[in-house]
Amino acid sequence: MNPEILINAAYIVASILFVLGLKMLGRQTTARRGNRFSSIGMLIAIVVTLLDNQVIHYNWIIVGLVLGGVIGLACARLIKMTSMPEMVALLNGFGGLASLIVGAAEFLRIRGGTVEPQYEMFTSGVIFLTVLIGGITFTGSLYAFCKLAEWLSGRPVQFSGQHIVNGLMLVATFAGGVMFTISGDPQIALISFGVFAVFALILGWTLVMPIGGGDMPVVISMLNSLSGLAACAAGFVIGNNVLVVAGCLVGTSGVILTTIMCKAMNRSLGNVLFSGFGSEPKNDGGDEAEGSIQGELKPISAEDSFAVLEAARQVVIIPGYGMAVSQAQHVVRELGEMLENNGAEVRFAIHPVAGRMPGHMNVLLAEANVPYEQLVEMDSINPLMPTMDVAIVIGANDVVNPAAANNKASPIYGMPIINAHEARTVICLKRGKGTGFSGLENQLFLMPNTRMLYGDAKGSLQGVVSEFKSLADG
Ligand code: NAP
Repeated sequence: MNPEILINAAYIVASILFVLGLKMLGRQTTARRGNRFSSIGMLIAIVVTLLDNQVIHYNWIIVGLVLGGVIGLACARLIKMTSMPEMVALLNGFGGLASLIVGAAEFLRIRGGTVEPQYEMFTSGVIFLTVLIGGITFTGSLYAFCKLAEWLSGRPVQFSGQHIVNGLMLVATFAGGVMFTISGDPQIALISFGVFAVFALILGWTLVMPIGGGDMPVVISMLNSLSGLAACAAGFVIGNNVLVVAGCLVGTSGVILTTIMCKAMNRSLGNVLFSGFGSEPKNDGGDEAEGSIQGELKPISAEDSFAVLEAARQVVIIPGYGMAVSQAQHVVRELGEMLENNGAEVRFAIHPVAGRMPGHMNVLLAEANVPYEQLVEMDSINPLMPTMDVAIVIGANDVVNPAAANNKASPIYGMPIINAHEARTVICLKRGKGTGFSGLENQLFLMPNTRMLYGDAKGSLQGVVSEFKSLADG
């Protein structure tokens, strides 16, 4: 059979495995299998591409495979779950760089030909797009990585006229791209290639600069989408169908995730990218919200928390970023088990943007072996909230802030929240008076039915768990 047909058939199989894998990744119970499906698809795509007779030497390919494999394996084993956003940022960046290199290599290949180089408009156009998107993705992701790893300040870096400077660079980049695409002259092509490649790399950095560290997960998701689009363009450059398909899948799934995150925060993508959120500490919407933050903080001890929980029959645990900070997920699972042994029904309520990356809470609770069946999404738990005896809020703040539902002056007004305040008793675990990511005060902590269990979440929970253990020991 014609080898080209065989190669394309294998690419179709790989593409189907990618699609099935992505679908399975949408549910916790099938996610591992989905990961395996996608990996097998990628293996097929790589092996078939390497068998293609266009490959002349395998030496450097083998060096790359071994080196990449070893680095990938080491990262998979050594990187902590909480460092996943940084890891994803780096992987996106390298994806962008790879596409940029493919575009540049194709450009140099056409230039280095034995005959006078022919710049077809389509090829030049996709080379431009590959280098543009790949370059922005590369440096943008590196900047996001540096912010998340705290190598650079998480605060937005802003200066007057910043958007105009970025706009002018974007115009220069596109001018270079248009010249490159339509000129057909080798000399002009070389100069304009240099112009848009350099500007694309600068733009990646400068576009991410004014965005706060807390918004980096949204930026990373968007850059992830861009890395897919860059790969898709690279697929057109070298005429590789499976790269086009895989790039499209990454591009569209990144767009979907970005949209979900923005929606869950009730912010537009434009607001995330251009508002400099996090540059100034904020209050609860100003004094216009007068009277909205009233009441007093009522501390509770671990012993008294135990007494409340011991009597509870319906308990909901609401984890947030503080649980990740204190790495309390294992003792949270232990507390859940003890409550169940004591006759309570326990649910874990998951807000879509709790923590600092999509699925942050799901990943941590899965790591601690909390049964999937106990995880309940926000929309399912809210109608049940008035029937809950106790809501335990573990290092969550913004995602349980009632101002989002009832204070029109609040910057987070409209963001869907978990209605912890509707439970009969609320026990909030946090270290002190620290605000959440949005920098806003939280009325929940001052409500008559709320008690504050101060301290690092892990330590506080260990205190409650040891009370349950003493009860069990008689
Ligand atoms: P949060 O609003 O950031 O609040 C976290 C709370 O945890 C803080 O009030 C802090 O108070 C407490 N805390 C920190 N370390 C702690 C520790 N060791 N022990 C106990 N408590 C600790 O968290 P959230 O409610 O999960 O909300 C997430 C926020 O991130 C939302 O505003 C969301 O929009 C934003 N965001 C999320 C994503 C995502 O994909 N998940 C992406 C971008 C932005 P103390 O300092 O007093 O302890």
